[in-house]
Amino acid sequence: MKATMSHLIHYRPITLQYPHEKRTLPDNYRGMLALLRYDDGTEKCVGCDLCEAACPSRVIRVVSAEVPGEPTKRYSKEYYMDMTRCLFCGLCVDACPVDALGMTREYEWAVYDKRQLHLNKQQLLAIGDRSFPVREKQLELQHPNVAFFNVAFKHLPQKPS
Ligand code: SF4
Ligand code: SF4
Repeated sequence: MKATMSHLIHYRPITLQYPHEKRTLPDNYRGMLALLRYDDGTEKCVGCDLCEAACPSRVIRVVSAEVPGEPTKRYSKEYYMDMTRCLFCGLCVDACPVDALGMTREYEWAVYDKRQLHLNKQQLLAIGDRSFPVREKQLELQHPNVAFFNVAFKHLPQKPS
């Protein structure tokens, strides 16, 4: 009885009037996925396919290619995510060797047509641009050893065509 009376006297509603009121999300909230860029606008993704291999739901499809004129570098020519299948487990983010994937705090992605949840590279980069406005510097500037290897392999002969 005492507990009931205490609750009645100190009553505070816990229902949020969504969408006018929104819950404060925890720092480690795993929302919509995004592709990220470096601070000079270069895409971080190197097209290694590790995220595709790590994904248990076959959400991701990467088509990678050589960077034109730089045979030692690759990038994702095409990148697709079928977000209707995503579990938001974060394994793809953990698998990425260059931190090119991030989980945003976006969750309002209800749509009438599920084809709108089949996202391409430009859409995923746009989500990254609006969710992560503070970008990292290029790896060469963060790690001098990466700069050494890039310089060392810069003048490799082109592959015979
Ligand atoms: S969060 Fe999990 S299910 Fe979603 S794309 Fe990444 S690895 Fe796949
Ligand atoms: S997002 Fe990361 S793991 Fe996936 S292909 Fe690009 S670089 Fe590789």
